[in-house]
Amino acid sequence: MNLIKDTETAAEELAAHPTSKPDISREKSAELYEKAKAYFPGGVNSPVRAFKSVYGTPLFIQKGDGCRIWDADGNGFIDFCCSWGPLILGHNHPHVREKVTETMQNGMSFGAPTALENELAELILKHNKYIQKLRFVSSGTEAVMSAIRLARGYTKRDKILKFEGCYHGHVDSLLVKAGSGLVTFGETSSAGVPKSFADETIVVPLNDREALKLAFEEFKDQIAAVIIEPVPANNGLLLQEKEFLKYLREICTVNKALLIFDEVISGFRLGFEGASGFYQIKPDIITYGKIIGGGLPVGAYGSSAEIMSNISPEGSVYQAGTLSGNPVAMSAGIAQLSELAKPGFYEELNAKAAAFANAIQQYATEKGFKLKVFHVGSIFWFAFTDQESIRRADEIDASSMEKFKLFHRELLNRGIYIGPSGYEVGFVSSVHTKDDLEKAKLAIFESLDFVFKN
Ligand SMILES: *Cc1c(COP(=O)(O)O)cnc(C)c1O
Repeated sequence: MNLIKDTETAAEELAAHPTSKPDISREKSAELYEKAKAYFPGGVNSPVRAFKSVYGTPLFIQKGDGCRIWDADGNGFIDFCCSWGPLILGHNHPHVREKVTETMQNGMSFGAPTALENELAELILKHNKYIQKLRFVSSGTEAVMSAIRLARGYTKRDKILKFEGCYHGHVDSLLVKAGSGLVTFGETSSAGVPKSFADETIVVPLNDREALKLAFEEFKDQIAAVIIEPVPANNGLLLQEKEFLKYLREICTVNKALLIFDEVISGFRLGFEGASGFYQIKPDIITYGKIIGGGLPVGAYGSSAEIMSNISPEGSVYQAGTLSGNPVAMSAGIAQLSELAKPGFYEELNAKAAAFANAIQQYATEKGFKLKVFHVGSIFWFAFTDQESIRRADEIDASSMEKFKLFHRELLNRGIYIGPSGYEVGFVSSVHTKDDLEKAKLAIFESLDFVFKN
């Protein structure tokens, strides 16, 4: 498929397929997109933004406030993408904005320690029994990359085991997919990743104890770490059974491999202690991103004080960053996480999100639509299927994405914004009110009616 979406082709495609409502105007967005294509590969600075798997050209967003965003053509949407997860308090939250503005009066960056780093670390560590020390970085990818290096340095082993269907950022050794066979060396999933890197990565299916056992037998004493999204949410929402995660914890302990929970999405999302707290499983290293920075670029990795003592300058595993712990970004994190630490925050958010997901499920079931709304905490995923559960990447029916494509356009035309791919999850934020969710539900019901008629 062509990486660059042609504006004219996109318009023709829209015209050729029916919709139950007139399409929103995309004139200004299309103009901006044409310009952007001259500046950036595919017109974007991160691939999924290019609307490759849905109708039309990408919408250029002009502003956000609360649970709403507005595009360059003035179309307003109730937003369930929430910047892919970071905005658990919605857009332009006054506390985040005020704290960031206040910090900025004193300059943007010093490359020297500030009290703000202590403040954010204290807030996190005080409310999280799974880590004792952490290091701030500037993205989720960076957090994962550093966690892997730490695990290798600590265990003095080279191999990493990952699961098919989990995404861990664009780290070389994790842009690897399963080859053929149950336990395989990975094959690179991106050009530019040396085969020798992929050879250090073992890929197994999710929810498969046998494959894990075989991998640990075949690569005895070679596996430095197993990395998993405890709530895999980048390739659909592949909810794992607690028993499987417990088994994973045990097999890592027995084989002296470190268990890394990549909580870049689930951290501060399922609860303040993320998926670790939700499942009450203690990994050896946890990575964070997204929510932790309140909408600014922050990532972090944390572990026991003992394991973290291997990081430079205390230990021999090198890791650094010019803008790590940036004061403006720390301020956004402090303001956001302070709200999340308030009693009752997650109970209220998660109950609201569950009611939303359940109502949509109930509607679909009553109508006999092949739709499952998988959800946990305030994360949800629309799967056009009648499978009771989907726990592995290869259980997703790729042909169901045609339905998603229709659904996405119908939603946009009714003022609902979700990620432009059927493999992406949605998020409910604390500022989606009952009224907003009612409106969204009606739009979703109407859109489903149309999708299942066509
Ligand atoms: C988003 C994500 C990453 C990558 O984070 P970036 O900030 O995009 O680099 C890594 N792991 C998981 C689980 C993610 O969801």
